[in-house]
Amino acid sequence: MIPVLIVLNAGSSSVKFQVYDMPDGTEPRLVWKGFYEGLGGAAHFVVRHAGGVDLDEKSWAPGEEFGHEDALMHLVSWLRQHQEGRSLAAIGHRVVHGGEAYSSPVLVDEAVIQKLETLVPLAPLHQPHNLEPIKIVRRRLSGMPQVACFDTAFHQTQSDIASLFALPREMRERGVRRYGFHGLSYNYIASVLRDYDPHLAEGRVIAAHLGNGASLCALDNGASIATTMGFSALDGLPMGTRCGAVDAGVVFYMLREMKLSPEEAERVLYTKSGLLGVSGLSNDMRVLRANAAANADARRAIDLFVYRITREIGSLVAALGGIDGLVFTGGIGENDVATRSEVIARLAWAGFTLDEAANRAGGPRISSGPGPTAWVIPTNEELVIARQSCSALGARQAKLAS
Ligand code: ADP
Repeated sequence: MIPVLIVLNAGSSSVKFQVYDMPDGTEPRLVWKGFYEGLGGAAHFVVRHAGGVDLDEKSWAPGEEFGHEDALMHLVSWLRQHQEGRSLAAIGHRVVHGGEAYSSPVLVDEAVIQKLETLVPLAPLHQPHNLEPIKIVRRRLSGMPQVACFDTAFHQTQSDIASLFALPREMRERGVRRYGFHGLSYNYIASVLRDYDPHLAEGRVIAAHLGNGASLCALDNGASIATTMGFSALDGLPMGTRCGAVDAGVVFYMLREMKLSPEEAERVLYTKSGLLGVSGLSNDMRVLRANAAANADARRAIDLFVYRITREIGSLVAALGGIDGLVFTGGIGENDVATRSEVIARLAWAGFTLDEAANRAGGPRISSGPGPTAWVIPTNEELVIARQSCSALGARQAKLAS
């Protein structure tokens, strides 16, 4: 029997999953991938072969109230029916916040769940949804090994100064500091950079994860030394619906003068801002690009996005003391030719020259000339979760054997 691992990435109404074979001592191998969406309403399940060919799908009517627990149990039973020579050995989870306690993946037990629950106030829109499947598995598949892999962990290499806000000391002592997110994505980029350019992997690199959420990470010899997201996933770049960095005074103005409740202000900053808020049209870059010529607000939203990316790159170049390479990843970074070319055009001062044909072709290298290099590298956060889960489980095996 080949042991298999399920990797779960759970959101409020969706669960993305991947299933990996875990051959002894080698890289986990993707077998199936898919998702449940519309959970709690009209749910829909799709599963594909690793190569992308559709394998199975199913829909549930809105009245069936098919939720997260139903989805997980459905997935486990689907696996049992299709696993041929495989057996479910463990589940790896994406968890957005590991706080100060976890700088690496952790095997889940009751104490870990309790610790992760205390971090819910730090990531109220993500952490509860990440923890829910962990609790469901503990309840319904008692004894199943589970590993939590954190978006914050990769940034724990940052210096004390890089993670500090200029707030009173007691705030820092109560966990108010910069954590940083998208760490699973940056971990993947750092892990594969050597395959693209061994010299660059040891150099000063800025990775730009531009998706619905967006951030930048400064990598020095593969380690995170600074990032644009901070205490929460709101900070830094404007995103699909999140504002990115705003003056904290704006929040007090919203509360005191505009009479928004804290919940209303939070909703504005997380769900009504960013590309959607500025354009008044969409959070989807494809829609904005299609309308930019005729719609001035769509153009402004894109221009602000590009301007903020290049300004923050300037700040990270200063933190790194120079730049050897820039990597684009995430839905926009991997697919939007125009965003890449607009960003690189604004970085001529740093010595970047765009190779337009390579950019149109999607890379991997999209720069030319002697200056710093620019790249498009598709991210793979699920593979990082699979790798981290295998190594945490391997360490447990070794401990049990000794
Ligand atoms: P998430 O952060 O939710 O994982 P993704 O990384 O999938 O999101 O990125 C979603 C974003 O990628 C959306 O803004 C979408 O418009 C953008 N995107 C996806 N494909 C393209 C494309 N071909 N051209 C431009 N933008 C794209």
